[in-house]
Amino acid sequence: MKTFDAIRADLSAGTTTCEQLTGDYLRAIDAGKSLNAFLSVFPEKALQRAREVDKKLRVGKAEPLAGMVVAVKDVLALQGERVTCGSKILENFVSPYSATSIQRLLDADAVIVGKTNMDEFAMGSSTENSAFGRVKLPQDESRIPGGSSGGSAVAVKAGMATTALGTDTGGSIRQPAALTGVVGMKPTYGRVSRYGLVAFASSFDQIGPFALCAKDAAQVLNVISGHDEKDSTSADVPVPDFVKALKKNVKGLRVGLPKEYYGDALTAEIRNAMEKKVDVLRSNGAVIQEVSLPHTEYTIATYYILATAEASSNLARYDGARYGFRADGVRDLAEMYTKSRSQGFGAEVKRRIMLGTYVLSSGYYDAYYRKGQKVRRLIQEDFLNAFKKVDCLITPTSPTTAFRAGERTDDPLQMYLSDIYTTSANLAGIPGISIPCGSDKQGLPIGLQILGKHFDEATILNVADFLENAKE
Ligand code: GLN
Repeated sequence: MKTFDAIRADLSAGTTTCEQLTGDYLRAIDAGKSLNAFLSVFPEKALQRAREVDKKLRVGKAEPLAGMVVAVKDVLALQGERVTCGSKILENFVSPYSATSIQRLLDADAVIVGKTNMDEFAMGSSTENSAFGRVKLPQDESRIPGGSSGGSAVAVKAGMATTALGTDTGGSIRQPAALTGVVGMKPTYGRVSRYGLVAFASSFDQIGPFALCAKDAAQVLNVISGHDEKDSTSADVPVPDFVKALKKNVKGLRVGLPKEYYGDALTAEIRNAMEKKVDVLRSNGAVIQEVSLPHTEYTIATYYILATAEASSNLARYDGARYGFRADGVRDLAEMYTKSRSQGFGAEVKRRIMLGTYVLSSGYYDAYYRKGQKVRRLIQEDFLNAFKKVDCLITPTSPTTAFRAGERTDDPLQMYLSDIYTTSANLAGIPGISIPCGSDKQGLPIGLQILGKHFDEATILNVADFLENAKE
């Protein structure tokens, strides 16, 4: 498995071509079929594109991602290909256009090999909620790879792509990155256009990369970031060169450890692994201090009220009339709606729609939805206050390492608690990255999360890159 820099070196030394590389990744996808990481693969198209990129490379006219072979989560639209969102309701839906993030990758000469498996409509933390079977952890197939972007995480971990795009509404990039042992980044809300991303919770959703190292993530972010007139929530702010921001230095950097994130939920092994990395920063001149995010205990409840409310509204469009699956043998319109939705959606999606409809219904709106919005503001303010004192925060990404398949499927609350350290960044809109941080006794990866100020991905990428390369 090679980082993008290593691949580039091979390409310029002439020891490989983009076509050969693409072939290698396609073979890895084939060899790793039991992991169920992909929902569709396009070998012919990918190889054809790779040959075109090789032509450009030969004349020195290639764009920055030439040689990068990319997998994308199947919630992102790619023109002419299916976009299933892991759901039966969209099983045969072919997208008439491409997401901006995908178009930008293609414009930068990346090759897209396929679309990855995911929890249905990105709702889940284990990729067990896919209508097309669960994704398995490469290190131990009886375990889950996290979710909802489990297929993208596994694609990178198992050498099936150089990098992969995922989406993160409450942790769906960072948590699977942590559980599989790769880098996963959620940019600031608004940094990357959501055009062509099938919506789950529109005020939370962000697209971001999985990669083998922070520098690769930075290179992808350079390409996919920036304002897009097709998404009014994409921010019109300058995009720095994230690769140049990797300063190889943390001297004087103020790092906060939110005390609420180091409580009882955390295992001793994860705590120890974290402390080692914090010591590395300290001995290299960073200034470490404890901070408080006092409303942390409300994050899971607030997230699951607001995200389900938005989901219930976004998913109303799947009614059997306009998109995808329509039930057979219906007598009237009402029955078409009911049967198409009952048969088309899986259990977790139905649970979310019911929860969301409930918190938005008259009589409960004030008690749940409106109150949730107020608490969201308080959670945002906690972060803004902390960032007056520190430049970034370090927390665990997940309270546990990869759990066994089936272990939490009957207990939704237990499943929701997998997101205890990640949902706050989406509530606040701030960027976060998860990087590998050693492993537990069983050899399962531990993830460390770095959270930054709005639009300051540069700082957290720098810390991530520094920790990857520093000696303990
Ligand atoms: N696991 C969380 C959920 O189920 C987050 C999902 C996500 O980020 N898409 O909602």
